[in-house]
Amino acid sequence: MVSDTRLALPLAYPVHVGRGLLGSLGRLVTEHAPNHRYAMIADEAVARHHAETALAGLPRERTALLTVPSGEASKCRDEWARLTDGLLAWGAGRDTTIIALGGGVTGDLAGFVAATLHRGVPLVQVPTSLLAMVDSSVGGKTGIDTKAGKNLVGAFHDPSLVVVDVEVLRTLPEGSRREGLAEMIKHGLIADADHFTALCGHLPALAGAGGHELEVLPALIAESIAIKARVVAEDARESGRRQVLNAGHTIAHAIEHTSEFAVPHGAAVAVGLVVESRLSEMLGLTEVGLAETVALAVRRAGLPDGPPASVSDDALIEATRSDKKAREGRVEYALPAGLGAMDRGPTARWSRPVSDDDVRSALIESRRTAQSPLG
Ligand code: NAD
Repeated sequence: MVSDTRLALPLAYPVHVGRGLLGSLGRLVTEHAPNHRYAMIADEAVARHHAETALAGLPRERTALLTVPSGEASKCRDEWARLTDGLLAWGAGRDTTIIALGGGVTGDLAGFVAATLHRGVPLVQVPTSLLAMVDSSVGGKTGIDTKAGKNLVGAFHDPSLVVVDVEVLRTLPEGSRREGLAEMIKHGLIADADHFTALCGHLPALAGAGGHELEVLPALIAESIAIKARVVAEDARESGRRQVLNAGHTIAHAIEHTSEFAVPHGAAVAVGLVVESRLSEMLGLTEVGLAETVALAVRRAGLPDGPPASVSDDALIEATRSDKKAREGRVEYALPAGLGAMDRGPTARWSRPVSDDDVRSALIESRRTAQSPLG
């Protein structure tokens, strides 16, 4: 059955969430981002499963499909150059709308192509991973990775339309679905206790086989998108409030870094949320018990709740120094101030510097209490 809800959000562009929407993509695109030509960029796995349906309603002779290999390695200058060269050879001008069909990698890469081609052409985001649905497709951040680090070259470029078809999660591997759940847990923690509690009740079912079929999933995704939308609407260029979206991410980036990116992002975020909640408790910024509430949620989602035994606290602390939130050598944390609320920090920038000793204490306590730490 087809369902389609246009969310009421504080954004300049429409976001549609429903089931079976891929079949209506042509109609939605020609309504909200009409143009002479359309170029769909998809990763190979997603294209195999979904490109045919997505392309069906677009004018065949004026639409191109460009694919990139699946995986983070495609978010690079070489793929950006190959795509822009290909589009220019095809004759793409300002009369071209780019359609990103895929996970966060495709959204960021195709978004950066749209931001830079002829200094910016319209973009439609069609996220196909849970993470991309609730997080990366909304907010306008696009970019690529470089040797120096992830997302270091990019641009803010809002889409003209976001189309979330929950049905496409049918083909998403279960591990990737759990990754997305970590970001949904984060959204509840930072801004909406009711969403956190509602989500928590469904986490075991959402994480299991058939979780994509859950009737409540489109509504939960819509709530999660609304949280992100409210945050980015307050701070489009990431100068303040948007820091709250980095909850759990200082520790998560350290875990990813020390594992040389063997630990998936969502698993690292799950551990980061627990450790940083513990840190917040220890600093007296929130009541004791929050970390255990967050740990319970991540376990219910089948995600790890403690740091990897194979990496020392010192190595993790050292790795936090490469975090993008480090300011003049001091590492900043966006910390929870309770379920659904974040700490404004000493300078009202929604983050605060924390001493290594406090981080070490939080890591030790998190290791002691973890029931399913990272292997
Ligand atoms: P991804 O795009 O690599 O997708 C994960 C895997 O799932 C890929 O192998 C992909 O082929 C596959 N996949 C996606 N949808 C599928 C489907 N429906 N069926 C079958 N397979 C499918 O990774 P991701 O986790 O979606 O996104 C991670 C990226 O997002 C990172 O590069 C990160 O930096 C970026 N990100 C960006 C923002 C932002 O605001 N721009 C926010 C968060 C994350």
